[in-house]
Amino acid sequence: MEDILIAEKIDKNFGNFKALDNVSIRVPRGSIFGLLGPNGAGKTTFIRIINQITMPDQGTVYFDGEKLQPNDVHHIGYLPEERGLYKRMKVGEQALYLAQLKGLSKAEAKKRINYWFDKFDIAAWRNKKVEELSKGMAQKVQFIITVLHQPKLLIFDEPFSGFDPINANLIKNEILNLQKEGSTIIFSTHRMESVEELCEHIALIHQSKKVLDGKLVDIKKQFKTNTFEVGLNTENKDNLLQDLSEKFTVTPATFKSLEDDLKLNIKLKNNETSTDLIKYLNNKAYINHYVEVIPSASDIFIQAVNQNS
Ligand code: ADP
Ligand code: MG
Repeated sequence: MEDILIAEKIDKNFGNFKALDNVSIRVPRGSIFGLLGPNGAGKTTFIRIINQITMPDQGTVYFDGEKLQPNDVHHIGYLPEERGLYKRMKVGEQALYLAQLKGLSKAEAKKRINYWFDKFDIAAWRNKKVEELSKGMAQKVQFIITVLHQPKLLIFDEPFSGFDPINANLIKNEILNLQKEGSTIIFSTHRMESVEELCEHIALIHQSKKVLDGKLVDIKKQFKTNTFEVGLNTENKDNLLQDLSEKFTVTPATFKSLEDDLKLNIKLKNNETSTDLIKYLNNKAYINHYVEVIPSASDIFIQAVNQNS
């Protein structure tokens, strides 16, 4: 897949503090790209550089095949981490004003605003001032304003923070829809549930450095430990546990099952395969449950951060 955004060797310092250290990232066109990292890692700084709000000290950003230039902001939608709307202005007027700033005609802007306000169930709030809205509602309005002009690239900085689960889900589904309609989406987060559900590609930044990037499935393969979660049934569980412990690395597992199973995580050596394990177990017990342990995005996040601290 061709890359819509390429950042090469980005450095950014604030005084003596290095906020980004030689960070290179490639975002495939049409992907949902998760920019991950603990608080203070440098995610927002990186996003502000892509949006040309701050300049890098070193390095180059390419957008859509060319060096990033001021005019590109028309093709990029940006939801900043610090949400900000004009508090005294009416919601509808403000949306219309901001949409026109992004190059939409008044008629087109009105049409799209109607569509989104209905979709997000906030049409009744059109004539309220922003200061009268709850935080969640104001965030919905700002999300709409970000996506209204259907930019090629959407950048959401912590889009789920401040939303309740219902609205977080609404935003999640809209991100998936926007991708279906052809947008590329970059979003930053330190919350891993949304990464599992949305991201095909990720990059993990930790203490100003990129410590991991690639396709999430490939990273999971890299982090997996050849471990299988099994539920076994037999007359004599103690004997079975004894046998297994001599042959494999065995730890207790917890999962739901209908049978009174012996529940274990069995870690194989590198040269042992799942087929070897199944053959072995088949001779010893009924296998009621058998699944490979796949590291979660959260496991990977924690492990990668600890390894690089
Ligand atoms: P993240 O979004 O990953 O939580 P940020 O990019 O906001 O992290 O910040 C990275 C580091 O850079 C933090 O230590 C932060 O305090 C520092 N930083 C960010 N912006 C500025 C600035 N304008 N001046 C000084 N330090 C800054
Ligand atoms: Mg941030």
